[in-house]
Amino acid sequence: MATQTTINKDELSNLSFILNKVNDVTFEERPKPSIQSPHDVLVAVNYTGICGSDVHYLTHGAIGHFVVKEPMVLGHESAGTVVEVGAEVTDLKVGDRVALEPGYGCRRCGNCRAGKYNLCPKMIFAATPPYHGTLTGLWAAPADYCYKLPDSVSLQEGAMIEPLAVAVHIVKQATIKPGQSVVVMGAGPVGLLCAAVAKSYGASKVVSVDIIQSKLDVAREFAATHTYVSQRISPEDNAKAILELAGIPNGADAVIDASGAEPSIQTSLHVVRTGGTYVQGGMGKSDITFPIMALCLKEVTARGSFRYGPGDYELAVELVASGKVDVKRLISEVVDFKQAEQAFNKVKEGQVIKVLIAGPNEK
Ligand SMILES: [Zn+2]
Ligand SMILES: [Zn+2]
Repeated sequence: MATQTTINKDELSNLSFILNKVNDVTFEERPKPSIQSPHDVLVAVNYTGICGSDVHYLTHGAIGHFVVKEPMVLGHESAGTVVEVGAEVTDLKVGDRVALEPGYGCRRCGNCRAGKYNLCPKMIFAATPPYHGTLTGLWAAPADYCYKLPDSVSLQEGAMIEPLAVAVHIVKQATIKPGQSVVVMGAGPVGLLCAAVAKSYGASKVVSVDIIQSKLDVAREFAATHTYVSQRISPEDNAKAILELAGIPNGADAVIDASGAEPSIQTSLHVVRTGGTYVQGGMGKSDITFPIMALCLKEVTARGSFRYGPGDYELAVELVASGKVDVKRLISEVVDFKQAEQAFNKVKEGQVIKVLIAGPNEK
């Protein structure tokens, strides 16, 4: 880390990747951010992963009621290097490598005070309109939302902490105990990470389900003990086949939907055991036909999961540092900042698991 002490923030570019409107992106050298409070740090962004939500803003200009009305910098899955610290910051110093948690609650509302800051109505979240994202050179942030990476964790792995924290939060909702069986619907990045986190929580059977065989090949190698390709049959029949395949005739202790797809959600309710837990992590259509009778008759505990809260980033860093979740294996490619648009297209076409974009100051 010989270069750490030589970082001169004045020499760094703040080139940013901006979504102007649907399918219209540009690069622009934006004014450099500065520390706004003595508790803030300024971070040079080293790597940023592309998320499904970034792609959705690019192709649709909106997610639910979040609508892109002004040009917005994309990106929120980042790791970087601290280049300046506010006067009151004691836990971080210049040169520290950090994973960036990209959303800040107001710290004052009922949800924030109850420790559920992910549900804060005044949340400021990167690349969620009207707020800019992290595909930029420099990022100013509260120091307590920047998590120092141990020496054994690289900055590229650091950029994977955000989706891993999403998975950690989902798996916490599922309250998995050692020896239990877990079915994860969807083998995209978050589904794969949920499978790995469930395994690290002690699940002995982890079944990954998807419609694409190649994704399941990755799942099998990454964390899943069993994989199942969804067939064009009824949700009940898919559920029966999943349970038979995994040897869990009474149903899974927990089912996580990381797909948001209606047939997967329907199958989930037939896969879960009596008294089991079902967690909705994936986001798809706002309204679907839901097998509510199965939920009722089996007394299923159903939970939603949104982003991440207290302790999730710390645990995600720990899971990577301890080698329990090998996030490197999900990084398909790392591209230069100037290749951002091409990288988005690859993600859009579904050719890759996770693409990282190097920061504009990364050489
Ligand atoms: Zn994301
Ligand atoms: Zn709040």
